[in-house]
Amino acid sequence: MHDTLSSLPNARPDLSRGRPYLAIPGPSVMPDRVLNAMHRAAPNIYAGALPEMVAALWPDLRAVAGTAQHVAAYIGNGHAAWEAANANLFSRGDRALVLSTGRFGLGWAESARAMGVEVEVMDFGTSAPVDMAQVEARLRQDREGRIKAVLTTHVDTSSSVRTDIPALRAVLDAVAHPALLCVDCIASLGCDEYHMDAWGVDLTVAASQKGLMTPPGMSFVWFSDKARAAGAEADLRTPYWDWRKRAAPEEFWQYWAGTAPTHHLFGLREALSMLREEGMANVWARHEVLARAVWAAFDAWAVGNARIGLNVADPAHRSRAVTAARLGAPDATRLRDWTETQAGVTLGIGLGMALPSDPAWHGFLRVAHMGHVNAHMTLGALGVMQAGLIALDIPHGPGALEAAARVIALG
Ligand SMILES: *Cc1c(COP(=O)(O)O)cnc(C)c1O
Repeated sequence: MHDTLSSLPNARPDLSRGRPYLAIPGPSVMPDRVLNAMHRAAPNIYAGALPEMVAALWPDLRAVAGTAQHVAAYIGNGHAAWEAANANLFSRGDRALVLSTGRFGLGWAESARAMGVEVEVMDFGTSAPVDMAQVEARLRQDREGRIKAVLTTHVDTSSSVRTDIPALRAVLDAVAHPALLCVDCIASLGCDEYHMDAWGVDLTVAASQKGLMTPPGMSFVWFSDKARAAGAEADLRTPYWDWRKRAAPEEFWQYWAGTAPTHHLFGLREALSMLREEGMANVWARHEVLARAVWAAFDAWAVGNARIGLNVADPAHRSRAVTAARLGAPDATRLRDWTETQAGVTLGIGLGMALPSDPAWHGFLRVAHMGHVNAHMTLGALGVMQAGLIALDIPHGPGALEAAARVIALG
């Protein structure tokens, strides 16, 4: 007779058992409060708790983006929000200037171009910030004001470059250029400080599954009065994507141009309440400390191994939601495999740094610290990475965990 409960252990115990931690830059960790709020019977979509709850949700959605203006919601992911923005802003042949600092700015550019917008891309590469002087020079050349909108990412999730939006606003103002300022905050909203109205942004897009801690499947477009007026004649607009009724519905179904995403909405309600309870300034400060802990660990690991390093050299241009780093090929892939299979932590793949078919692809990874993340989760992920570096015999400098712990302890 074999008693499996008391049988001899494996040569190496399975240390991945326990609650897994998905530390990829979206979807992010969902709070139990969000999960529990969604666990309910299908609600009536015509009266009762759901319509009442949603009416109160819109002010909180505005608040989280720092705007008193308009917000339209969509059943779709971030790519859907890009198309929604394009459809409501542009007519065929309108010109957009895209400032790219990684893969996602290019994604918005491709989406607009495919819809018939004349897209011009200023590509600043995959680790440098937007060069404001170059943007200013380009806008000065545009004497007839042909550029209708400047599109950019607040955080490009592939590179973890953060764009200085107030500085970009200042450039538009210095040139007195009338272009709309449109910002992709899909990675950054609820992680990196953002004030749509105070920063003079005309359009913001975000999705539910990153800093907003809710399952993928909802996205949002916030827009200014100026954007609404500028897009009034947009000929790319079709009934489903039309933001006018969605932002100011006369009947409940018009929020979604059809059936509401019922359970997502109960989850989002809880997530927005959690952000409000914590306070946005505290939310941003928490992400700042967690990000700096990750940076401190990488700085220590990099000592003596030039293959290891953060993607963005200057902390002033780094995201507080996600950190892109290099380890040298194939060690980034080896480390990701190890942390996932041996310790239950899933790290993000490198994105946009090399083609997946290129051996160099295996040299990049990303650590997410977006959304519902606290000190023990970030220190846990870093501790597991430290164990992986040891297990895989990847050369690295000492003191990474001490350095990260000091950031957590001392701020
Ligand atoms: C995740 C992300 C997207 C794409 O969102 P999907 O929901 O995957 O379509 C676009 N832009 C940024 C900055 C992102 O982080």
